[in-house]
Amino acid sequence: MITVAIANQKGGVGKTTTAINIATAMAATGWKTLLLDLDPQGNASTGLGVASSARKTTSFDLLVDQVGLDSCAQATEIPNLDIVPATQDLSGAEVELVAVEDRSHRLKSALAGSAHGGPSSYDICFIDCPPSLGLLTLNALGAADSLLVPLQCEFFALEGLSQLLQTVERVQERFNPDLGILGVVLTMFDRRNRLTDQVADDVRDCLGKLVFDSVIPRNVRLSEAPSHGLPALVYDHQCAGSRAYIALARELIERLPQEREAA
Ligand code: ATP
Ligand code: MG
Repeated sequence: MITVAIANQKGGVGKTTTAINIATAMAATGWKTLLLDLDPQGNASTGLGVASSARKTTSFDLLVDQVGLDSCAQATEIPNLDIVPATQDLSGAEVELVAVEDRSHRLKSALAGSAHGGPSSYDICFIDCPPSLGLLTLNALGAADSLLVPLQCEFFALEGLSQLLQTVERVQERFNPDLGILGVVLTMFDRRNRLTDQVADDVRDCLGKLVFDSVIPRNVRLSEAPSHGLPALVYDHQCAGSRAYIALARELIERLPQEREAA
């Protein structure tokens, strides 16, 4: 199983939208896909139509109580796509784990069982991280083979990114030397806004090939879809946002085999 953390400590940059739609695109391509909601806000769970009452076993159980992945994951309406949902409880995980040794490795060991051909062996797992660099995101980075960074084209984008990349380096040095960076995807791109264009150019100058060619446009269908409990790819598969995520999935698949070898 390839594990991809979707992280950026900045809030509202499109992490969850990317997680839901890239996971759906991969599932549609035939990959057995798991989306792990590691954000107490539970937006990925809501966006995939998992009602609060249906979140019986969650990422809190996986992380804190080390309940098996098979018991925590549940099917979604999308074929090939399962989810481990999250609830508010997860915000207490940091407190629960504070006295636990290896508290940054909890998720890695919880996922390891599934990586070796358990009944629920997935091809790929995406982790939707909360907007912080706290213990939850550290667990995601500790468990991941690679990192996907959604970046909103705005003035402070690069500043936040350097902090994230420093954290990645620290994680690589201390407990996950295999962590790679899959790429940076520009989100909420608005062609009519000159600043957006300028920031996109700066990001590409600075990061080069790390930035995916596919750019996710600002698209109202992407923001409407979660209120229907559906990925945009199902809600309106022809809208500009859905097409962009399909293109991103294609690029991502091209990048993955090297990641696999590197891991
Ligand atoms: P948080 O840090 O709170 O977890 P996030 O990084 O996961 O946020 P999202 O929840 O994906 O970000 O997006 C923030 C808001 O912007 C949501 O209301 C979402 O519907 C909307 N949004 C995301 N991407 C787009 C887009 N490309 N076009 C228009 N709206 C978008
Ligand atoms: Mg989110």
